[in-house]
Amino acid sequence: MSKPKVLLVLYEGKDHARQEPKLLGCIENELGIRDFVESYGYELVSTTSKDPVGSSEVDKHLEDAEVVITTPFYPAYITKERIAEAPKLKICITAGVGSDHVDLNAANERKITVAEVTGSNVVSVAEHVVMTILDLVRNFVPAHEQAMAGGWDIAAVAKDTYDLEDKVVATVGCGRIGYRVLERLVAFNPKKLLYYDYQDLPAAAAEKINKASELFNGKGDILHRVEKLEDMLSQADVVTINCPLHEGSKGLFNKEMISHMKDGAWLVNTARGAICIEQDVADAVTLGKLRGYGGDVWYPQPAPDSHPWRHFRNKYGGGNAMTPHVSGTSLDAQARYAAGVKELLRAYFEKTFDYEPQHLIVIDGDYATKAYGNRK
Ligand code: NAD
Repeated sequence: MSKPKVLLVLYEGKDHARQEPKLLGCIENELGIRDFVESYGYELVSTTSKDPVGSSEVDKHLEDAEVVITTPFYPAYITKERIAEAPKLKICITAGVGSDHVDLNAANERKITVAEVTGSNVVSVAEHVVMTILDLVRNFVPAHEQAMAGGWDIAAVAKDTYDLEDKVVATVGCGRIGYRVLERLVAFNPKKLLYYDYQDLPAAAAEKINKASELFNGKGDILHRVEKLEDMLSQADVVTINCPLHEGSKGLFNKEMISHMKDGAWLVNTARGAICIEQDVADAVTLGKLRGYGGDVWYPQPAPDSHPWRHFRNKYGGGNAMTPHVSGTSLDAQARYAAGVKELLRAYFEKTFDYEPQHLIVIDGDYATKAYGNRK
């Protein structure tokens, strides 16, 4: 009898995997789970071949996979069609945070569990968000390009460089990442910190930020929840997107929504590429509505060379702070999500199903979290 199958989809590490054994999230190092999986009598099939849907290695193995593990950095899109081709599939595990690459409604119809390693990389992403805000506001990228190219044209950079101090910064979504971004921004003495979310922050969390601001900057009461997204956008110099991708957030930042932002504002998105309409964002920067856009998430991933976010610049030649999807995959984060995947597998293999509740996205045919569309 053939062994039950675990299908693992990761990006290629090549020489980098050999240089750095802590690079667990690549195919060569397989999250460090091969021996563990095999010790439970399962077969581990690992592959980088995920596209195109229908004719990749993923499609070949879905037929008898019981467990699929994939990562948001190089996601195998587990569509409704693929779920239909996977009769034995019981659990999809995300090595990281953000499980929108699985059709969650289709998973619910089949009572497939979807779990992720919640919290594993939220500090990593929050740090990347703060860095990207600074890159844009301080006009770092053109300055760095100039330095590397042997130039010394101060004015060319300074004409588009500002201070973050005294700016209004707003987050769309104030969960684990959004909150950590605001927490870190207190040190920059912002004018106000705003958030838009279905859920109110716990009083103690809000108080912590106001108290920190009082201590650092001599002014409390800087944090405010705004009920209507458009109202928040019209007040903010910097907007950072930190909500999951679901039916209610897909395409949220289109031309119309961006028109509510302040002229010359900066937009940062490390949540998911498909929350923004790619051409509308690129046009907003190119035509001068926004001063800049940055982040690390795209759709699809890997992004094609022709993706408009690879090339746009503002009228001064800056305004683009894009990276490939790397914010949540620092080596520190990789160690955390590799350990978290192991723990989820243990609960599945041993049939104890004692998953940490915070890791569950859908289970038993229903959503287990409010974050994917405030369903409960
Ligand atoms: P979280 O569940 O702790 O917080 C998400 C918050 O967003 C919740 O408070 C929820 O109520 C809110 N929300 C949901 N839909 C919203 C909407 N339409 N408008 C406003 N608020 C909304 O999640 P988190 O750990 O903070 O992660 C957030 C997202 O960031 C993930 O779902 C993932 O897509 C993305 N992420 C990206 C990376 C990366 O490497 N770039 C890594 C981790 C997470």
